[in-house]
Amino acid sequence: MGERPSLGEEIVGRIEALAAISETPGQLTRIFLTPEHRAGADLILAWMREAGMRAHLDAIGNVCGRYEGVAQGLPCLMLGSHYDTVRDAGKWDGPLGLITAISCVSDLNRRGKRLPYAIEVVGFADEEGVRFASTLLGSRAVAGTFDESVLDGRDAAGVTMRNALRQFGLDPDHIGDAARTRRELLAYLELHIEQGPVLEAQDLPVGVVTAIAGATRMAARLAGMAGHAGTVPMMLRRDALTGAAECIGAIEEFCRTDGNGLVGTVGYIDARPGATNVIAGQVSFTIDIRAPADGHRKRAVSDIVRQIEAIAKRRNLALQLDVTHENRTVPCAPWLQAQIAAAITAEGVSVFELPSGAGHDGMAMIDIADVGMVFVRCRGGVSHHPDEHVELADADAAARVLLHVIENFRGREEVSSSGGLQGTGFS
Ligand SMILES: [Zn+2]
Repeated sequence: MGERPSLGEEIVGRIEALAAISETPGQLTRIFLTPEHRAGADLILAWMREAGMRAHLDAIGNVCGRYEGVAQGLPCLMLGSHYDTVRDAGKWDGPLGLITAISCVSDLNRRGKRLPYAIEVVGFADEEGVRFASTLLGSRAVAGTFDESVLDGRDAAGVTMRNALRQFGLDPDHIGDAARTRRELLAYLELHIEQGPVLEAQDLPVGVVTAIAGATRMAARLAGMAGHAGTVPMMLRRDALTGAAECIGAIEEFCRTDGNGLVGTVGYIDARPGATNVIAGQVSFTIDIRAPADGHRKRAVSDIVRQIEAIAKRRNLALQLDVTHENRTVPCAPWLQAQIAAAITAEGVSVFELPSGAGHDGMAMIDIADVGMVFVRCRGGVSHHPDEHVELADADAAARVLLHVIENFRGREEVSSSGGLQGTGFS
């Protein structure tokens, strides 16, 4: 009699199977509303049905599975993650959470176990936003916050999202059908690779996410005076590039010495006219500031802006600074953090808390449910890259943690009426 594969073995096998569905041979690229999206969805739907779930594709192309509780129609604990990818992606970002959730349900189903709530698993069709430059499309549809104006957005080939949905066999006029309500959901839980090096440095397979960090993005432009690299004396220059360099150094120093999870990045710079023998007259650069608390991020942004203004003034450079994007911090619910921590402890692993610097579907789901997240160690913190890797043992440990949370889950009302949050150390 052949032994059943462990949860970790089943999960890794399915990660490989899903990763084989790609538009680029030898690389992994699976984009919203493509034939690969369809093939991935079909495979995931089959796994859901095999795990004893009723499963369907919703109005935006999410895969949705439902495992009934002790009675039909009970509110659900919703588990999910996304199955679209960036270009030349890793296999684990998104699919790990989705596949692990299905394997947990499959385990319950094999044991014939029904819970006092339903379990739903959602595979979000688009989180990364590669095709239409608008992210979280799948989870926003489920949360009922899908912005219809994005339907007129076009991909690189000029196809509107509206037409892409039609070609896929979906009706752009009925995206509202994917929306769920707060009453139907007890909570939203997502397991995801960390996409950073912190758990690896702590030598831990899993961690409890405290919040999805909010972000502020800005575009800065410094204007000085272009001039001849040989004839303009140093004292008479208005060099926009050395001014930008000083600003970038100041941003790094400010964030490096913060100690409260603040991170700041200048990831793009453009210098004009851009020649070896010309002093740069115009420089544009971007600034990305993130922190696990909104107040802290906002104070940091104003301090950084003040420093940049002072540098520009001292160097006699004209400064234009625009906020191009802002999203709020999404805190993970303390009562869910406590249940994840209890599951990690039950698996014999030390509890470690960390914020998520990357965005996730929970940012949309917070509008209809309290959100909890489990992070899984990934090798070297590498993500959005083919070298992304999770060890089988870690996938297995993470699955056992998630299964423990699922089986021992207590709704928010139940927790608060029993005073279950006291003494857990989470706030
Ligand atoms: Zn992801």
